[in-house]
This record gives sequence, structure tokens and C-alpha cells, in this order.
Amino acid sequence: MAFDPWSQTYGWRSRQYPGGVLGLSDRVLSNVQEANELCSISAGFFRLARSMMIPVAIENPHCSRLWSMPAWSQILRRSDIDIAVLDYCACGMLWRKRTRFVSANVVLSHLVFQCHGTEVCDFTGKPHICF
Ligand SMILES: [Zn+2]
Repeated sequence: MAFDPWSQTYGWRSRQYPGGVLGLSDRVLSNVQEANELCSISAGFFRLARSMMIPVAIENPHCSRLWSMPAWSQILRRSDIDIAVLDYCACGMLWRKRTRFVSANVVLSHLVFQCHGTEVCDFTGKPHICF
């Protein structure tokens, strides 16, 4: 799996401090700040494409702190965007990895497939692989 600076796993961000909690080491703070800059750039790119009627989409884990960042939380409140939530096990993967797709000028609602299996996957009939 790729390193995800927006994961809740590391405790670098919180609901109260989605841009980074206080007391991070210099190395971690540098990573968090770099990810925050990329967040601003991606949100700016998304807004520009939306305003120019260019199809645009971004994906990130459904529970990612990215969605709590001010730039993205403002976008998520818009009525002219589309949000789809997909579990990757619906695509044949052995892991669920619930993922949110946010798009503008393109409808991704056909990607809405969610698994409700706790012990056994609704789609594969096998236990999910947990990372
Ligand atoms: Zn599943």
C-alpha cells in the first residue's frame, strides 16, 4: 500500500486539527505541510476545472482527513459536485478500502457499490483482507 499522509492511522491529524496536530516532530511536520500544500493545489485545480466545465475527479479514502480540510470541505458543500462511495471489494479486490470519489462535470454515481459484510464480503463471499 502507498503511504497516505491523510490516514487517521498515524494520529498526525484530528477532526479538530485536520491540517496537523500540535507537537509533531520536524520530519513529520514537514510531511504534513507538504501534503497540506498538495491539498490546496488539488482543490484549486478541482475548482478551476469545475468552473471551466472540464470533467474532474479526485479519490481518497472515505474517512480521510483530506475531506475535513477547509479547501475540500467547502467543495463538498457545493450542489454542483457529485460524490460516489465505492468499496474496492465490489471490483474483485480482497480488501474493502471504502473510497470516496468527488467529481464535477462528470457523474460517477455508477461507482456506488458498498459492502455491508462484516465477517464475509457481500461481493466475493470471502473474508476481507485487512491492512
Ligand atoms: Zn466486501
